[in-house]
Amino acid sequence: MEMTGFTENQLTVREAVGAVCSRFPNTYWQERDQTEQDPKDFHAAMAKDGWLGIALPVRLGGSGLGISEATMMMQTITESGAGMAGAQAIHANVYATQPLAKLGTQEQLESTIPNIISGRWRTCFGVTEPNTGLDTLRLRTVAKKQDDGSYSVTGQKIWITCAQVARKMILLARTTPLEEVKKPSEGLSLFCIDLDRDVPGLDMRKIKKMGGRAIDANEVFFDNYKIPANTLVGNENQGFKIIIHGMNAERCLLAGEALGLGYAALKRASEYARDRVVFQRPIGMNQGIAHPLADAYMKLEAAKLATYHAARLYDESQEDKSIRQDTIGVAANSAKYLAGEAAFTACERAVMTHGGMGYAMEYDVERWLRDCLVPRIAPVSREMIMNYISEKVLQLPRSY
Ligand SMILES: Cc1cc2nc3c(=O)[nH]c(=O)nc-3n(C[C@H](O)[C@H](O)[C@H](O)COP(=O)(O)OP(=O)(O)OC[C@H]3O[C@@H](n4cnc5c(N)ncnc54)[C@H](O)[C@@H]3O)c2cc1C
Repeated sequence: MEMTGFTENQLTVREAVGAVCSRFPNTYWQERDQTEQDPKDFHAAMAKDGWLGIALPVRLGGSGLGISEATMMMQTITESGAGMAGAQAIHANVYATQPLAKLGTQEQLESTIPNIISGRWRTCFGVTEPNTGLDTLRLRTVAKKQDDGSYSVTGQKIWITCAQVARKMILLARTTPLEEVKKPSEGLSLFCIDLDRDVPGLDMRKIKKMGGRAIDANEVFFDNYKIPANTLVGNENQGFKIIIHGMNAERCLLAGEALGLGYAALKRASEYARDRVVFQRPIGMNQGIAHPLADAYMKLEAAKLATYHAARLYDESQEDKSIRQDTIGVAANSAKYLAGEAAFTACERAVMTHGGMGYAMEYDVERWLRDCLVPRIAPVSREMIMNYISEKVLQLPRSY
């Protein structure tokens, strides 16, 4: 990757995180992928060096850096060879804590954030539901207020990363029925809850999946699961507005993760194309091999500019209130889209460059190809980004 233009902080993050990652070679990630074991020691190593608090305020024990640096951290992790498993082991701790750090009460901050930064607790993000999918505003999980101010949660979430190992969940649930609000974006609330399976009403089931297998993904079932009043983050019924902060940050991080996968795959493909001799010459002498890799490089570089532009806007908007949320939304969604596509191009071409060996576990490129579908699907699909840009930027009629 061309490193010109990054800040000193970003370069320092890249070097230091790269040093942690170098202790976890590709064989570590291959084995975790095969055995579906959580990379607990990687999470602990990142926590030990303080990286989980990278984008949290200094007053809460974080490093006070921004999403620009956190995106570089995530890119460095996937690029090290760790793939999505390395990224997913920690990323919710970075983005899901953003709305909490912004709007949490003193009590919520003091009881939660230091434990997340130290690695003692892990967190997960509970938004997606099986029956509503990308139509987030119509989600059906209900948090019903009780007479004593506590809530009772009933509903189902799906694809919740790290729920098996997480102590906390940042949960989006409906607190006012859809029929009683003016707009579907109203009536949702955000909670920071304990995932305590000793409390009645909580169950979860692991989903068998294609890639990032070291990390659990889950269906989570709530059936009158009781959560205290003090788990509410920000104002009741304002949850969607609040969670947007976390979502734009998440798109930047995912874009960085996609870039890392793409650059790792491209590096590996170029090495192989230089070394592998067929018909008495390196396969990289064939333009049929070289040009698709050169094209993949340019696509990654373009996506890189979009990604770090979005992250910078996100960070600058914390101080500069003239930067509108929709401007950040457009930039973050575009970056996630472009980086996801560029990563897919690079990973697919890396497999093809390796010929048969592209299909072998030991060359890693098959793992990264499986992994790179995640930033294309999640946290929002390519099609929904197209819908968003069509409507918000091009002012075309809404299609759904
Ligand atoms: C590995 C992994 C980890 C994840 N981790 C988490 C997590 O930690 N927390 C969490 O909350 N979620 C998580 N997700 C969920 C993820 O965010 C969703 O899968 C994603 O948002 C897509 O939603 P869906 O699967 O319900 O797709 P659906 O909504 O069912 O959509 C299916 C397809 O139809 C298309 N489609 C739907 N409506 C339209 C339309 N109007 N116009 C055009 N196309 C349309 C979509 O683009 C998509 O291609 C994860 C998913 C994966 C795969």
